[in-house]
Amino acid sequence: MATEREITNLPGLISALPTEDHALAERIFDVSTTTGRLDPPKAMHAWIEKSFGSVDRVTAQRIVKVTNRITLEGTLFNELRASRPLDTGVSLDLDREISATEGDPFCHPHDGTPADVFGRVEGEHATTASNIAKYDGFHGVVVFDDHNPLHLTPDKVAGYVAVGLEWGQKAIEADLEARYPFLMWNCLWRAGGSIIHGHAQVTATRGTHYPKVERLRRTAAAYKREYGSDYFEDLARVHTSLGLDVPLEGVHAFASLSPIKEKELVVVGADPADPSLSRAVGALLQGYVQDLSVRAFNVAFFMPPLRLTEEDWSDFPTVVFIVDRGDPANRTSDMGAMELYAASVVASDPFRVAEALREDLSA
Ligand SMILES: [Zn+2]
Repeated sequence: MATEREITNLPGLISALPTEDHALAERIFDVSTTTGRLDPPKAMHAWIEKSFGSVDRVTAQRIVKVTNRITLEGTLFNELRASRPLDTGVSLDLDREISATEGDPFCHPHDGTPADVFGRVEGEHATTASNIAKYDGFHGVVVFDDHNPLHLTPDKVAGYVAVGLEWGQKAIEADLEARYPFLMWNCLWRAGGSIIHGHAQVTATRGTHYPKVERLRRTAAAYKREYGSDYFEDLARVHTSLGLDVPLEGVHAFASLSPIKEKELVVVGADPADPSLSRAVGALLQGYVQDLSVRAFNVAFFMPPLRLTEEDWSDFPTVVFIVDRGDPANRTSDMGAMELYAASVVASDPFRVAEALREDLSA
């Protein structure tokens, strides 16, 4: 009998892979399972059945721990947590709240926002502004033409990214040392966005790349030295062999086996300026919003520097991370001490995430 494609069956699914894929999966991932048990008093049974469906689901809970041996990032999956009761706080009508802020400074960026020292980049779907309280020496905002950040399409997202990349070029023309670009998008409050109006952010840093980007470069370089193959290609192959890929033109896209938080997607492309990469990101985000009901999300582009550096970036692709940050109506943060200092605890099953996005994109 075939093993059901569920994260809790991951050890069996890996065992069933063809020899080479199996070896690659075991090279990259350490997977173990455990069962958490408890003994609820009779008086709790009715409440447990109401909250979790059945008492049996709670008394023995299967937990899968996935550790990426190469990057030492890891995740604990417990599907029961998806249905646990949460303090959901005040319910809010998100669309109404978003439209109530129409007419904000980002709706008229030319007189509502400062320009950078090199001016503004104006694109088809966005205009840049200079961030007023900066993360770094160069810190810009890609202000979308759309007020509502959730009205996104692959075309619009490709436009946002193109404007952000051109901003990076302007920054390096203004300062040849500002050679390391970073592009990010914090959509709505739970994702760290303080302004509702659709916007992404771009920075350019000097010296070395941001530590998390540099760490991934070093990790991939060490992998290549040890195994003679490309880490990102191998990572994508493991996810594809397990059926976690979302087929999109010109990129590798997959639902991560070691997500940092809910429904994390990874997109690997050759060049940040390749429109098939930004369109793929846009298609996945559209699927996020329309099919997975995601409202708050983060997007981060890991990109090589724009000028030659001492360290070797020749094998480093563009890697984009996309993650769901939870329901805006929920007051409980999705990140606690476990996520910040130990391992991520995730409820969403990457197999369901990949399946939902594949269905959406083939529809
Ligand atoms: Zn606005």
